[in-house]
Amino acid sequence: THFGFQEVPIEEKSHKVAEVFHSVASHYDLMNDLMSLGIHRLWKRFVIELSGVRSGMRVLDLAGGTGDLAKTFSERVGNKGQVVLADINSSMLEKGRERLVNLGKVGNLNYVQANAEHLPFPADYFDRITIAFGLRNITQKEAALHSMYQALKPGGQLLVLEFSKPASWLTSAYDIYSFWILPRLGKLVAGDADSYRYLAESIRRHPDQETLSAMMRSAGFDYCDFYNLNHGIVALHRGYKY
Ligand code: SAM
Repeated sequence: THFGFQEVPIEEKSHKVAEVFHSVASHYDLMNDLMSLGIHRLWKRFVIELSGVRSGMRVLDLAGGTGDLAKTFSERVGNKGQVVLADINSSMLEKGRERLVNLGKVGNLNYVQANAEHLPFPADYFDRITIAFGLRNITQKEAALHSMYQALKPGGQLLVLEFSKPASWLTSAYDIYSFWILPRLGKLVAGDADSYRYLAESIRRHPDQETLSAMMRSAGFDYCDFYNLNHGIVALHRGYKY
């Protein structure tokens, strides 16, 4: 335990994750802006620029939730390309679809309810796969990385944006923020402290930069590298399939 919060046993984790995202779906976008002071937009912008997604590509935005990345990818791939927004959670996926349709993003977008651990896509299909703030919630990360590797075309890239291990001088402030301020913010705005406690806990337990890079290499990815954003609060990992 950490600050007195219970760990979630592994077999309960997927139920807990489902519960959390059904519960936060309706406040998700607002909470993202509040919790990160809007900075998550810059992190996502960095993913988009580094991805080099362009006209005609097939892109999978996995654990895509309300579709922040899928929205820009849909603009970039044009009518010859395809963007798939996939998420395990029907409430999040429905929010994403509603939002993108309202923004007029139609024609090159598909919505698929899928578990990242067993993706339902053909092998060698996508030019790019992105997963932003999703890997942390997945119980079997190795299986998920393997499944992403299969679905990528040779020459394709995986980009994983995720909370990571911040520089040590930041640790105390960060712990206070995530275990004290975050649940209170969650309670105030969404009437739900528990989901935001889960969030803090899942961030603390997520593999650090070097560990995740090694996991990607074990799943078969080559030339794995990563970029620390805001002193490692978040890291963007990239790997290639050859
Ligand atoms: N990518 C979006 C973003 O950056 O705003 C949403 C991130 S949200 C924090 C995490 C998402 O991961 C949720 O929508 C959740 O339903 C999804 N998720 C959790 N476990 C998953 C799994 N096993 N397979 C696919 N999606 C999953």
